[in-house]
Amino acid sequence: MSIAALFVTHEAAMRLSAFGAVLLLLAALQWHWPTRGDGRPARRQLTNLTLALIDSLVLRVFFPMLAVSLAITVESRSDGLLGAVAWPYWLEFTLAVLVFDLAIYWQHRLLHQIPLLWRLHRVHHSDIAIDVTSGVRFHPLEIAVSMGLKLGLVWVLAPPPAAVVVFELLLSVGSLITHADYALSSGLDRRVRWLLVTPSMHRIHHSTRRDETTATSASTCRSGIACSVATGPIPSGLKASCLSACSASAMPRSRA
Ligand SMILES: [Zn+2]
Repeated sequence: MSIAALFVTHEAAMRLSAFGAVLLLLAALQWHWPTRGDGRPARRQLTNLTLALIDSLVLRVFFPMLAVSLAITVESRSDGLLGAVAWPYWLEFTLAVLVFDLAIYWQHRLLHQIPLLWRLHRVHHSDIAIDVTSGVRFHPLEIAVSMGLKLGLVWVLAPPPAAVVVFELLLSVGSLITHADYALSSGLDRRVRWLLVTPSMHRIHHSTRRDETTATSASTCRSGIACSVATGPIPSGLKASCLSACSASAMPRSRA
């Protein structure tokens, strides 16, 4: 069995165990090396974890099929955008992950810019402290909107199912990593944020000031892939918006 097939067959178990392991690891890190102490046990963490449970129940109950299952179903279709050219597997895989990442980046920007969507997304921003559990604090409808977007993309692209598994993993684990309250030395933080969003960078996005929050639409660099692509050789508005978002994240005055 190929690695890709292994990924797809054991998708649920793999995602759940990776998510659980990273959650526990980050909880331990923020306990022993806290930045602000937001990771201390508090009732809000229970609220966040309960929301995560409700979110996954909503997805299971209201969606007959989730992104990975749909990808498996449409895999053999030849009219998906990624199937239009006979690219090597690795290239299709990479492109699929990047396209998904960029789509979620734009989704996050719209969540901040469209008032109706902001009403959903502000549940995430209403957390009174920021620690690893904030990374799973989302309104169930926001999660449903996001799944709708991913399903649409899978339908249009017909990507390799393993790429969807990897993307979903990056998305969930990335959210935990960017919200956790562990301290990185400033030198390491500076080097890491060149490629990935660090917690200190993402914390600005959770400012109580709306201008800072939108300016850093930090998911611009949510998993880091979008940001690294945008700061690469892509001469588009995307590059400008990502660069401004990333550099704006150096602004002071964050709440949390
Ligand atoms: Zn946001």
